[in-house]
Amino acid sequence: MTDEILAVTHLEKSFGDHQVLKDINLQIRRGEVVTIIGSSGSGKSTLLRCINLLEQPTQGEITFHGENILAPKFDITTYRAKVGMVFQSFNLFNNLNVLQNCMVGQTTVLNRTPEAAREMALAQLEKVGMTPYVNAKPSQLSGGQKQRIGIARAVSMSPEVLLFDEPTSALDPEMVDDVLDSMRALAHTGLTMVLVTHEMAFARDISDHVVFMDQGVIAEEGSAEEIFTRPQKPRTQTFLKRYL
Ligand code: ADP
Ligand code: MG
Repeated sequence: MTDEILAVTHLEKSFGDHQVLKDINLQIRRGEVVTIIGSSGSGKSTLLRCINLLEQPTQGEITFHGENILAPKFDITTYRAKVGMVFQSFNLFNNLNVLQNCMVGQTTVLNRTPEAAREMALAQLEKVGMTPYVNAKPSQLSGGQKQRIGIARAVSMSPEVLLFDEPTSALDPEMVDDVLDSMRALAHTGLTMVLVTHEMAFARDISDHVVFMDQGVIAEEGSAEEIFTRPQKPRTQTFLKRYL
């Protein structure tokens, strides 16, 4: 498939003798929003972390534009700029201000000039409504504001794919919508996104493809319509009933 960006094939991950991912197969195509849903402990974060090389798979293959990202000489730093990640816990640099948070990866990894990095950072901060806070430190911001910085920082790296691991799960309820709005706007730009979330209405609205994970396997997958309107497997039905 020519527009395939990422392919995960027969992926397995164990921690000691606990097998957390079992024979995971997944393709991510350009411009797609792929959402991973499933109960806590089903392996969603581990899958994203394997794709981002924060975890080393035990078995299987992951390719990026056909290239094996698990090969010994693969350039992980460059890859992480192309396949970025937004974390539940924000992972901002607390000693840097908002603007610096959005510039540092650009200057160090992408070798952009400070001027170019600043221009990009300001453009992305404006899109998430954080222009008034460029000089603030993360400790001065709410969770929702921190996460919008996390998104602006990730997008400032001009990624091909952005991975989101429960980006709104640590937020107070009144902060969630601003973050989801920022993500929706990003999806509408055509950015390829892989998203783990429990925001089912949002997932249904935004996703091209939905993957339901259960106990380390992909138990069911399909279009948003297929998974949310007529799930076939009993365990998918049971899981989704909790969100009605
Ligand atoms: P989810 O994101 O779906 O809640 P995770 O991928 O975080 O699930 O975890 C899946 C399973 O893997 C859990 O049983 C968890 O305890 C285990 N696990 C995750 N990371 C580690 C780790 N670094 N060491 C040992 N076990 C882990
Ligand atoms: Mg998780």
